[in-house]
Amino acid sequence: MLVGHYNSVLVLFSVLVAILASYTALDMAARISAAQGRAMRWWLAGGAFAMGTGIWSMHFIGMLAVSFPMAMGYDPWITLLSLAIALASSAFALWLVCQEELPWTRLTGGALLMGAGVAGMHYTGMAAMRMTPGIEYSPSLVILSLLIAVDASGAALWMAFRLRKDSAQVKLLRAGAAIVMGLAIAGMHYVGMAAAHFQRGSRCNAIDTGVSNNWLALLIIVSSLAGLLIALIVSVLDARMESRTAVLAASLAEANQELTHLAMHDGLTKLPNRILLEDRLHQATENAKRYHGRFSVLFLDLDGFKAVNDSFGHSIGDRLLVEVAQRIRACIRARDTIARIGGDEFVVLLDADEPADAAAVADKLVTAIRQPFTIGELELRVSASIGIAIYPGADGRRDLLKDADAAMYHAKEMGRNCYCFFETSMNADAQEQLQLLHDLHLALERHELVVYYQPKFDAANRKLMGAEALVRWQHPTRGLVPPNDFIPMAEKSGLIVPIGEWVLDEACRQMSEWRQFGSENWSIAVNLSPLQFGHTGLIQMLRDTLRRHGVEPRCLTLEVTESTAMRDVDTSMAILQQIYSMGVNISIDDFGTGYSSLLYLKRLPASELKIDRGFVRGLAKDGEDAAIVSAIVALGKSLNLKVVAEGVETTGQQEFLTRLGCDSLQGFLLGRPMPPDQFIAALSKPDSPAADEVPDLSSAWKLVAQTI
Ligand code: C2E
Ligand code: CA
Ligand code: CA
Repeated sequence: MLVGHYNSVLVLFSVLVAILASYTALDMAARISAAQGRAMRWWLAGGAFAMGTGIWSMHFIGMLAVSFPMAMGYDPWITLLSLAIALASSAFALWLVCQEELPWTRLTGGALLMGAGVAGMHYTGMAAMRMTPGIEYSPSLVILSLLIAVDASGAALWMAFRLRKDSAQVKLLRAGAAIVMGLAIAGMHYVGMAAAHFQRGSRCNAIDTGVSNNWLALLIIVSSLAGLLIALIVSVLDARMESRTAVLAASLAEANQELTHLAMHDGLTKLPNRILLEDRLHQATENAKRYHGRFSVLFLDLDGFKAVNDSFGHSIGDRLLVEVAQRIRACIRARDTIARIGGDEFVVLLDADEPADAAAVADKLVTAIRQPFTIGELELRVSASIGIAIYPGADGRRDLLKDADAAMYHAKEMGRNCYCFFETSMNADAQEQLQLLHDLHLALERHELVVYYQPKFDAANRKLMGAEALVRWQHPTRGLVPPNDFIPMAEKSGLIVPIGEWVLDEACRQMSEWRQFGSENWSIAVNLSPLQFGHTGLIQMLRDTLRRHGVEPRCLTLEVTESTAMRDVDTSMAILQQIYSMGVNISIDDFGTGYSSLLYLKRLPASELKIDRGFVRGLAKDGEDAAIVSAIVALGKSLNLKVVAEGVETTGQQEFLTRLGCDSLQGFLLGRPMPPDQFIAALSKPDSPAADEVPDLSSAWKLVAQTI
């Protein structure tokens, strides 16, 4: 019997090829299960090719490792048949492990078939040598080799099935599995080789017709290694690309989520916006309907926020809003919703059954927001007006947001810094407001507006210095409507521009009429609304009006509120400068309610500060207002501005303000706003402060009164 010698380098090489083939096949199995459709079929074909040629070349390298005493060759057709068997069994094995499930029965069947394939390939490969006399096989070793082939196939299939999902850990396990599988394939081969006995003097018939050993060796080694390497590289590259795709897909999903979040939330405060609020409101309503529950909606609007925005700019306003949002959040429970639905408007959706609970939360919110805010170096004060609507109300139909909004307006009317429950009459109020706006559009052409005049006096000598023109609306059915009831509406709708022009015109006309009898130093004050202030035609309109009535500019004072003057300071400064250079006086109205910067105040071309009547009213109550008033007077003096106090109602106030050094006084004590005819009559009465102190004027007015 012939005994071949093994070349250990080639044996090792054959084992390495088996391991490499196994690794490639396992890696490709992962690709197959990750792919779909046509790509999946391509991966299956590629995997089967890598695995099949791998096993096949392992066999031939193993054969080359043995040196026989005779020349060896291989029949090409039988060799190709053995390759076909290797490819077919690999394809089948790969297909099997890429199924959704791999039950035991299928695994066993697969192991038997695959084992038969591997063994079939081996023994067909042996037959390709076409030995005479034929190779004798030792049955026990053949059976052992078959067992190894079946077991190894079973183990390989199972491992490939378990390791088909890609992950970092799986990669390591896959390398281990490839070693086990490679060793098993090589083991099968060498046991099969041990089973084969070549007869002494036997001859290889394939030597004449077949391929020579050396050529075969080169062909197989080069082609199989190249095939395996290409397959492996493609597989690894694809895995990379897939993981990159996975990263991309993940970031896309994240971006998507972020976009939905953005669409539902307010960018500044990160609170839910109106869209999300309406969704939550809908849910809350549905839940309340189903379980007969109740909930409340709180509509919160900041008081004084506009002044902050106007005086310090939007960035400070924004920071204040963020702080306000935080305070609101701190007052409510996590399960309640807070939303920001407009500039300084917030809505809280409360899971509160009882009106008393909603009231308690509203009270907490009002108290929290009233506390001063520190933004950078500024100390800002705002307050909250809150409207509350409860679901369900008395009537079935409800637009909770609208109701809560109406209640919030009511809270504003009640003096702000408070809360109000919705009542059905409030909706009627809103209707009424609409009607009023409609009427206001017609008021000018129907000549329903009238100007009242309130006298202004010199504080020290109590001489009459002029009057402030204050508009009123003589409504056909409602009677005399005070400006606070329609000026805000006119401001919002833009109607204030023609109304303001008319007031100025009327006041100047009246002035020129009176001046024919009055003093030279007499001046008329007219209020300028923020909208008029920003209107482009303002300067020309002023010039035209003064000229039309022959009124000297120095006899006109325009009253601009502090917050208007401090809004967009540079633009305001330019407009004020133009007014000032015309010779018209400027008075800063409601001083103390806005946030003046001392720096700008110094540059402001104003001639007068008008202390807000709120401080004058508070003089008797506490020392705080007295301190503020004296500070304003001191400030005015140091800036060379005249200081006017309005809202003087008591002699106590009058004395105090005069002692402080206020230049002029205005108030109900000294004279209410009156229509022109009454104005003259009242001031000419002997008990009028003006009548006492300015006899010359009052006698002149008597004359006027007679002529009217
Ligand atoms: P204002 O410019 O601060 O005008 C002073 C307001 O204080 C007037 O209210 C006046 O009647 C009131 N007042 C004067 N003395 C006293 C007093 O001793 N006690 C009290 N409690 N109040 C006093 P009125 O006429 O109701 O005007 C309210 C506001 O409406 C004005 O505040 C002004 O902002 C605006 N307004 C009035 N007329 C016009 C106008 O023609 N154009 C513009 N843009 N606004 C106007
Ligand atoms: Ca005024
Ligand atoms: Ca005022």
